[in-house]
Amino acid sequence: MKLLHASLCLISLLLVLPSIFAASSTKDFDFFYFVQQWPGSYCDTQKSCCYPTSGKPAADFGIHGLWPNYKDGTYPSNCDATKPFDSSTISDLISSMKRSWPTLACPSGSGEAFWEHEWEKHGTCSESVINQHEYFQTSLKLKQETNLLGALTKAGINPDGNSYSLESIRDSIKESTGFTPYIECNRDGSGNSQLYQVYLCVDRSASGLIECPVFPRGKCGTEIEFPSF
Ligand code: 5GP
Ligand code: 5GP
Repeated sequence: MKLLHASLCLISLLLVLPSIFAASSTKDFDFFYFVQQWPGSYCDTQKSCCYPTSGKPAADFGIHGLWPNYKDGTYPSNCDATKPFDSSTISDLISSMKRSWPTLACPSGSGEAFWEHEWEKHGTCSESVINQHEYFQTSLKLKQETNLLGALTKAGINPDGNSYSLESIRDSIKESTGFTPYIECNRDGSGNSQLYQVYLCVDRSASGLIECPVFPRGKCGTEIEFPSF
């Protein structure tokens, strides 16, 4: 009887094991993009922007999001509707978030709608590694550590409306952070290509920067504008 029981257990284990592995390999992710936006380039487009209810943000890069990604360039999204954004779990972080993760979309808001969107679309896909508090805390820490504006200004690249070579922008960030960024451009109101977002890659345990396993697709000019804010 014991033997029968043991073999039944073994058989059921063998039956469920493959589905456990299949579920985890389709659900999980390989690395993160940590994406920061230049507010001047969000605001000087044809669409324009709205300052947050707390006032004009600092003239500094702001966080856009921490995005789980696959090595093949695709990404998961909206992974867990049972874990909605809950600002009470991050009440200790809200004042830093207002400074470092300001919203520029219209109509003006406190930022909560932006944070909620980022958590629900991207954050919920990282739950195997970090919880909601860690998701926001890690992003804030990464912003401090990368200090993009410091990296650029140290190399003489300033948000003054002038154009700089894409290569010099990339090199200065690599020099300072140790890792090659992906630069995303958009267009100002007159159609000039400008520095919009900077992507750096983070390992899947969210412990630090890595070289990107794959870069997003898109093109800037060889010379791009760095608008003021
Ligand atoms: P867009 O189409 O404006 O480039 O991107 C729209 C949104 O899609 C982004 O804000 C982000 O939420 C998501 N997205 C775009 N590209 C990527 C990507 O390469 N990886 C991930 N994880 N999300 C992306
Ligand atoms: P993603 O492109 O990450 O999927 O979504 C960005 C969403 O957040 C859009 O619905 C956009 O309206 C909203 N949003 C709110 N504030 C900002 C902001 O400052 N920058 C960007 N890129 N999107 C924002």
